[in-house]
Amino acid sequence: MDHQIAPGVLEIDTELGGWQELNAVFLIDGERPCLVETGPQLDSGRVLGALERRGLGPDQLAYVVLTHIHLDHGGGVGEVSRHFPKATVICHPKGVRHLADPTRLVAAAAAVYGPRLDSLYGRMLPVEADRLHAAEDMERLDLGAGRTLTLVHSPGHAKHHIAVLDDSTGVLLVGDAAGVKVPGGGPLRPATPPDDFDLEVAIHSLHRLASLRPEQLVLTHFGPAGDPQEVLAEAEATMRRWCTIAEEAYAEEPSLDHLERALLERAYEPAVEASRQPVVDALNGVPSNAAGILGWIRRRQQGREAADSR
Ligand SMILES: [Zn+2]
Repeated sequence: MDHQIAPGVLEIDTELGGWQELNAVFLIDGERPCLVETGPQLDSGRVLGALERRGLGPDQLAYVVLTHIHLDHGGGVGEVSRHFPKATVICHPKGVRHLADPTRLVAAAAAVYGPRLDSLYGRMLPVEADRLHAAEDMERLDLGAGRTLTLVHSPGHAKHHIAVLDDSTGVLLVGDAAGVKVPGGGPLRPATPPDDFDLEVAIHSLHRLASLRPEQLVLTHFGPAGDPQEVLAEAEATMRRWCTIAEEAYAEEPSLDHLERALLERAYEPAVEASRQPVVDALNGVPSNAAGILGWIRRRQQGREAADSR
């Protein structure tokens, strides 16, 4: 179901994997409309159909903004940019070259997702280099008729993450920066996948997002999440808690298996409806979060060893 979350801000469910209320894209109206996220390649038909039903002709979409280039958020960018030939495709500067040539990105995703890559997400087609734009931090995007979006660098979940603030409604689209909370899927969970999850960087981003004083905070997985300041505080607390549990487990035994077990036993709150468990596992499984936190622990340790040897 498509859902108007604020004046001129439409949430479209991509129905990832055939599941409702798991993955979204957002259409922001204006003289120059903007699509935030494209969803994965396998959902691009559904997303294009929804935009067509809104009466958006092929020449009418001006911008496509990706909060980051993970395949659930941007895998459909090739299909969407081909369907809307005048749209400029915008992402974090660190993501641009991967959109022009997604070979390495898709290979990395295949390593994380395994067989789910082709059954759930699909791959990614390239975007012509001259249609790509690297978003500067706090860059304003003018949609016309007084509507602007502010693009906010918000790394942590990934190095190439940005959040999108609709200045006229105060809606803040946070991508995965604050984590994942799907209906029936239990409390807010951190999204800490490999390869670049970094706790300190992620928390710094949460503080910056809080300082924007948004009116509404909207997760790509999934939808408006409640009082923005409370959600951002909860996101920080839950991220810190998972990382503390993982660090304690790492001190006991520095293996991925042990971290995974520890998080399942000590961090994971199984208040998940049975029917939603596969949904949560597909998108935000404990194994992926454990691997991302393990990478952060090891990088930090290497940093300390390098500092000690100086
Ligand atoms: Zn992501």
